[in-house]
Amino acid sequence: MLHSFLEHASVFVFPLVFGLNLHWASSRLYELELLWLMALAIPLGVVGGDLVSGIVHWAADTYGSEDMPVIGPSLVKPFRLHHVYPRDICTHGLVETIGNVCILAVPVLALCLYLLWLIPESGLLAFSVVSFTMVTAATVATNQFHKWAHQEHPSSLARWLQRKRLVLEPEHHKRHHTQPFNVNYCITNGWLNPLLNKLQFFRRLEATLGFFGIQKAKAKDTRVRDH
Ligand SMILES: [Zn+2]
Ligand SMILES: [Zn+2]
Repeated sequence: MLHSFLEHASVFVFPLVFGLNLHWASSRLYELELLWLMALAIPLGVVGGDLVSGIVHWAADTYGSEDMPVIGPSLVKPFRLHHVYPRDICTHGLVETIGNVCILAVPVLALCLYLLWLIPESGLLAFSVVSFTMVTAATVATNQFHKWAHQEHPSSLARWLQRKRLVLEPEHHKRHHTQPFNVNYCITNGWLNPLLNKLQFFRRLEATLGFFGIQKAKAKDTRVRDH
């Protein structure tokens, strides 16, 4: 019950703290005659959100197990179930889709507001807050964009955004759901996937973690894919 309350409350509060941060930080940049930095901060934040989606998704696909405390049921299990029942995500309502991420995003954005209040003259802070606010917005929107990519008949707005590649494009995402299941982890808009695939970014990360003794989850764990 508490979780459900938190989900609903944070879905309601998120747009408020998002808007306040953006308004306050952009006004500060305007006062400092640095408003042009918004043109850099916004795309940077969106790309940052795509990277966060890729790293979280890859980690949940590759490490840990469904019975770990907290992140097991909230993160690992949903991603692994998604590979078995990809269309299940389409049955989720808005709060179920974005609620958990909003619970994390709201306190972080509240902290950004506090920092803006604490350090009123910093252009660097204002720039960072705009970028970071966009990271959180992209991260909150990720599951919704992912859901659209699996819908048989997404809305015309969703289709338009997909065609413009502003959000995750279904054919692009399908590669993640195809053997060997270990590419295209980014699911906000997937902009970073070609680069990360080319760099073998996640394979290198797995090798590095393996060097430090952190092993991938084995296929014996239910629904884990053995890469
Ligand atoms: Zn996956
Ligand atoms: Zn998917």
